Amino acid sequence: MRKKFEIPKHFELLGKEYKINKIPDLLAKSESEIVGRISYEYGVIELQDSTPSHPICEDTMNETYLHEVVHGILTAMESKLSLDEKFVNLFAKHLYQVLKTSDYVK
Ligand SMILES: [Zn+2]
Repeated sequence: MRKKFEIPKHFELLGKEYKINKIPDLLAKSESEIVGRISYEYGVIELQDSTPSHPICEDTMNETYLHEVVHGILTAMESKLSLDEKFVNLFAKHLYQVLKTSDYVK
């Protein structure tokens, strides 16, 4: 049985709590086309929420969430790979495919 992948409300990394906030106007507030960002200082991941003027499909939103999580993990590891957006993107895409297609047989 497959469980639906869900973006959580919060998680812990290195014992620090991170909250996840979906924001309707993240794109409008940022200078570039940012649909997700992580603040290590404040322990928060902000995601552009899907809105009528900027609809975002569920897969894209989930991948964006995991993209920010991968940034968080790599930064926790003090890895320079966190600065490599292509690596972070591909890692998040592959991780999402594994999590999305994981089967839990009971
Ligand atoms: Zn990134």
